[in-house]
Amino acid sequence: MRASAYPLVDAEAARALVLDGTPVLPAERVHVGEAVGRVLAEDMRAPAELPAFPSSAVDGFAMRAAEGGATLRIVGESAAGRPFAGELQPGTAARILTGGVVPDGADAVVMVEDVQVDGATVTVPAGLRPGTNFHRPGADVQAGELVLTKGTELGAAELGLAAALGFAQVEVYRRPRVALMSTGDELVEVGNRPARGQITDSNRWALLAALREAGAGVTSLGIAPDEPDALRRLVVEALESADVLVTSGGVSVGTHDLVKPLLESLGTVHIGRVKLKPGKPFTFATLPDGKLAFGLPGFPVSSLVTFEVFVRPALRKLQGFSRLQRPTLPVRLAYDARAAGDRTEYQRVTLQRRGDELVGESTGSQSSSRLLSLVGAQALIRIAPGDEGVKAGTVVEAMILALP
Ligand code: AMP
Ligand code: MG
Repeated sequence: MRASAYPLVDAEAARALVLDGTPVLPAERVHVGEAVGRVLAEDMRAPAELPAFPSSAVDGFAMRAAEGGATLRIVGESAAGRPFAGELQPGTAARILTGGVVPDGADAVVMVEDVQVDGATVTVPAGLRPGTNFHRPGADVQAGELVLTKGTELGAAELGLAAALGFAQVEVYRRPRVALMSTGDELVEVGNRPARGQITDSNRWALLAALREAGAGVTSLGIAPDEPDALRRLVVEALESADVLVTSGGVSVGTHDLVKPLLESLGTVHIGRVKLKPGKPFTFATLPDGKLAFGLPGFPVSSLVTFEVFVRPALRKLQGFSRLQRPTLPVRLAYDARAAGDRTEYQRVTLQRRGDELVGESTGSQSSSRLLSLVGAQALIRIAPGDEGVKAGTVVEAMILALP
């Protein structure tokens, strides 16, 4: 085995290098029905006020507040979408339904529960104040008001507001197109029976899920053999339509590890090794036209942990998110965490609330091949390099995946 030519980059420095090399993708216009989870690429101002007309909040009668206590002649109706035609004259009232336009001349709505109707007349209670029971024009949104700012993540309320203001389309950052590939002669497609020495490709399905969850559109390119020309052909073709290449395997220093030399020939490799456990062989390259390549390690846990630490924040930056990292919180360890000491180590834990604190318990063996260490994990606790380990009871920083 030859020694790696790549310097070991500190984990935090590696994260900064990745984000520095990651652009924000251009914006595109999409229908409000397609925009959930996207990031707004423009400030949005209200083109007109909301509500656009005085709108009844209840079912009842529109009237003049000054005529409280009187018996009024019912002259018509204002239903939602079907306004009363004309101006309300003194001594009269109009039946009104929720969402109906309060007619000109009226300045209050009295609830149907509070009146007495007798044929064509209605007796209304005294003491009504002008403005009762309806929404004034502009009460919710003023014309020209800045309602959504560039960088806002669009959820249900934001998209509802955009639609209420009449925007059928919104300007959002493009989603990254990711080409995903596994490498390794030992891999077989899921569902096929591995012969002795073969294993099922699981990384592609784990990474496909992680990529989609992070907002990427993914093209799954299958399994590339450990053969330089075949690998190159697949990668070059994939990069014609992808913004980002994600591979797993083929980045350690054995002779079959072909990803780094390939990326060297296509662009610039910024990171070839990281002081990180799991995930030391993590590789990051920038390619022509602002494209990115992530060479993730082959071990299943290593590929997913490096995805969390490096790829997910980069995908979020591409999509214009301002918060790139998972939230971090202090977690008190319920176990003695042994650590390598020479690298930043992320251990997988489950969380429990105890009083005001979060307490982390190990998910068991932290082997980089043991996916069960990530199944149900709620946080990645961070053990700084230099620590030989951390005793139970110590509080450490944790990347939170799911709060209990
Ligand atoms: P490599 O980085 O290619 O040397 O792979 C390291 C380890 O990860 C080996 O045990 C591989 O068999 C395993 N591995 C590589 N790719 C995958 C994959 N797609 N799915 C599951 N395990 C893999
Ligand atoms: Mg391999």
